Amino acid sequence: MSAPLLTVRGVTKTFGALRALGPVDVDLMPGERLGLIGPNGSGKTTLINCITGLFFPEEGTITFNGEDITRLPAYLRARKGISRTFQIPRPFTGMSVLENLLVPLDYLGTRAKKARDRADEVLIQVGLDARRDNAVETLSQLELRKLELARVLVADPKVLIADEAMAGLSEAEIDDILALLFKLNEAGVAIIMIEHIMHAVMRFSQRMICLETGNMVACGTPKEVAEDPKVQKVYFGEQTHR
Ligand code: ADP
Ligand code: MG
Repeated sequence: MSAPLLTVRGVTKTFGALRALGPVDVDLMPGERLGLIGPNGSGKTTLINCITGLFFPEEGTITFNGEDITRLPAYLRARKGISRTFQIPRPFTGMSVLENLLVPLDYLGTRAKKARDRADEVLIQVGLDARRDNAVETLSQLELRKLELARVLVADPKVLIADEAMAGLSEAEIDDILALLFKLNEAGVAIIMIEHIMHAVMRFSQRMICLETGNMVACGTPKEVAEDPKVQKVYFGEQTHR
C-alpha cells in the first residue's frame, strides 16, 4: 500500500471555551475520494481550515507528502498543492470571470502570459470558457460554484477540498458538479468532499468520515458509515439543511 498523501494526527482546535475539533486523526491517500459528513457545527470546516492553514491547531501534526506542514502559512500550502473551495462562493466583484482567475494565479506567482494560458485551460475544463469576459455578477449559482472550483484548479492542486460545493443546486446541477469532480479525480487529484447532500457524497466517496462535536464517530465505506447507528443518531436523526 502506498503512503498517505495527507495525514492529520491528534489535531485539536478550540475557540474560547469551545473545543471545536478533536483530537482527530485522518489519512488521505493519493488520488482518493474522501467524504466528510456531520451535522452543522460538528467541526468539518474547522478541520479543513487546519489542513489548509487558515487556522493553526493547538495540538497535533499535519503532514503532506511526508513533510510537516502544521505551521506552514496557507499560501505555501496552496503552492504545495492543497487547495479548497469556500462554503459560500466569494468571487471578486467588479471583475470578469477571467480576472477572477488571474488574481489567484498572481498570488501563486505565475507570470502574466502563462497565467492567461492557465486560466483559459481551466475555464475550458470547468465549462466556463463562454463566460470568460462576463462580469461575475451575471453568473448563475451553478456557474458561481464552477468559478469557485476554477479559482482552486488554476493552482493545479494535488488535493482539492470542496466545502459544500453543491449547496443550493438542483439535482441536474449536482450531477454536473459531480461529473466535474470525478473528471478531476480521474486526472489524479485527491478530493475531500464536505457535503450535506447525502446521495451525492455517498455516490462520490470511496471512503467516508463522520464528525460529531469535533470528533470522528464513524469511518468506512459510504454504506458502512450511512448504516452506522452512531451516524444514524447524530446525522440522520436531525434536520439537515440543503
Ligand atoms: P461545520 O463546518 O461542521 O458546520 P464548523 O467547523 O464551522 O462546523 O464549526 C465547529 C464549531 O466551531 C461550531 O460550534 C462553530 O460555532 C465553532 N466555530 C467555527 N469557527 C469559529 C470561529 N472562527 N470562531 C469561533 N467559533 C467558531
Ligand atoms: Mg462548515
